[in-house]
Amino acid sequence: MTKKQKKTLYRIIAAAVLLVAAVLTKDKLPIPELVVFLVPYFTIGWDILWKALRNIKNGQVFDENFLMALATVGALAIGEYPEAVFVMLFYQVGELFQAVAVGKSRQSIAALMDIRPDSANVERNGTVETVDPDEVAVGETIVIRPGERVPIDAVVLEGTSTLNTAALTGESLPRDVGPGDDVVSGCVNLSGLLRARTTKEFGDSTVAKILDLVENSSSKKAKTEQFITRFAKYYTPAVVIGAVLLALLPPLITGEGWTRWFRQALIFLVISCPCALVISVPLTFFGGIGGASKAGILVKGSNYLEALARTEVVVFDKTGTLTQGVFNVTAIHPQECPQAQLIELAALAESYSNHPIARSLRDAYDKEVDESRVTHVVELAGRGMKADVDGRTVYVGNDKLMEEVGVDWHPCHQVGTTVHVATQGNYLGHIVISDQVKPDAGEAISALKAAGVKKTVMLTGDAKEVGAAVGEQLGLDEVHAQLLPADKVARVEELLEKKSPKGTLAFVGDGINDAPVLSRSDVGVAMGALGSDAAIEAADVVLMDDKPSKLAQAIRIARRTLRIANQNIVFALGVKGIFLAMGVLGVANMWEATFADVGVSVIAILNATRALKEG
Ligand code: ADP
Ligand code: MG
Repeated sequence: MTKKQKKTLYRIIAAAVLLVAAVLTKDKLPIPELVVFLVPYFTIGWDILWKALRNIKNGQVFDENFLMALATVGALAIGEYPEAVFVMLFYQVGELFQAVAVGKSRQSIAALMDIRPDSANVERNGTVETVDPDEVAVGETIVIRPGERVPIDAVVLEGTSTLNTAALTGESLPRDVGPGDDVVSGCVNLSGLLRARTTKEFGDSTVAKILDLVENSSSKKAKTEQFITRFAKYYTPAVVIGAVLLALLPPLITGEGWTRWFRQALIFLVISCPCALVISVPLTFFGGIGGASKAGILVKGSNYLEALARTEVVVFDKTGTLTQGVFNVTAIHPQECPQAQLIELAALAESYSNHPIARSLRDAYDKEVDESRVTHVVELAGRGMKADVDGRTVYVGNDKLMEEVGVDWHPCHQVGTTVHVATQGNYLGHIVISDQVKPDAGEAISALKAAGVKKTVMLTGDAKEVGAAVGEQLGLDEVHAQLLPADKVARVEELLEKKSPKGTLAFVGDGINDAPVLSRSDVGVAMGALGSDAAIEAADVVLMDDKPSKLAQAIRIARRTLRIANQNIVFALGVKGIFLAMGVLGVANMWEATFADVGVSVIAILNATRALKEG
């Protein structure tokens, strides 16, 4: 509990004791009964009264504080002193309970997201200084000691170690790193001392982006949540008008005394307090997002949880999404030059690309890539690269690219992804590379089908045979190959048209070449945010550990969150409805009304905290 919550608790205890004392002594004291009860009443209720007054002054009259102030002042006016204190007391118990529950969810999200590094050790002028991560520039050398968090995205210069990536991925499997490997901020260095060169500023580093994302996730609200906000806005004034009518009409019509119906109206007010809904529904979504991030699934807003829950079609990108995106060279077929030169040209031309093919070709080249030999680099999405190597223009890419360049190329007899190399007017040969499907890709598809997803589709820019082979191996419903990024958008649009109006389409990609499709689909899911930052920005949901099987888990979490939110709405409105009817008919008294109100809130909040569990 926070200090403020503890203080409320003490006030509740003090007021309860004073209330009991007042009930016991009211006849024996020489002061009026009202004054005796006002002591516990103000002890517990002064802040509510104050807030209600302040709101009236600001022109925002109708909220829970107003309902409570009106009901209790009314009760005091008709001589129901203990009831007035009791209503306030119980209202405060409910409020305290809410505050603790909300704080708990916040805390557990904060703990999940407790990845902000406090400082960075940077080497400057031969000494190591400890500075704020914000103050480190790109290209500086940082030292990461065992037990410390990687403060900024960097590449290892020296040392080997294992990293704990759990905070980012939800996976407890440690990752080994050595010289040349990228380390991502937010991971914890477990064993060895690392020297690393920063590749980004802190503000652009993974950790800052993730924190940003989580902090902003509450601004994108689910329809259910929006409904509740709007509901509360009309509901409270409606209830007050209802209470006024209830106090005035029956006595006017029947000629009965005023007190009885005035009391009924007060009971009606107490019962009608909408706190159970107003708090528990957003809390449920908050918990769902928290539970998902615990599992390494970042959801950018509760509206995406809602969309995920209704997933009908899932479209996958191939390279890096269903396959590992780590290619082995299976053949090198040069046309005119030695094998080594073909690989060298390819690796050099690819030296600035992030594409998995580019990374694999650089790895296949056993020497250090000398970037100074490469100029005028152009990445041709879905086709390949164009770059000047030693002043000569080199093209590296697929058949589409070769057609565009207009060289005399030919396909390879070997199955695999063929990367052709050409200069202006000269075909130099090709390199055949092959990729492997991810170990959990098959499971990912079957889990989606089990979860009721109607159609799974793969879109790829790769060759037909390669796409078909992967599609068959994984049991996908449809495979479309040889697509440029724009073709992928067109295909997704077709699929969007064909699906049922209630269902949604999710696109899962690795964030390379697929930002347009990510944003065009109902839910854009990016893989492997550990590598690419384009992904975090373009996507609505990020699977931190590259595992396609996490999508089915995300859908399960989304569905459970929605189910809990709906349970709370039906339960709270149902109980309120019954008690409001009882209040109108005069069968519920003030005590029962208070119990109904606080009880519903407590149960709804407890139910909401279930959403925080990992699914
Ligand atoms: P996918 O749809 O499988 O993710 P992309 O759209 O990224 O694939 O690329 C489609 C095809 O374009 C690749 O299979 C490859 O033939 C070619 N390509 C794209 N980028 C590059 C690159 N940097 N180097 C060589 N070929 C590339
Ligand atoms: Mg791709």
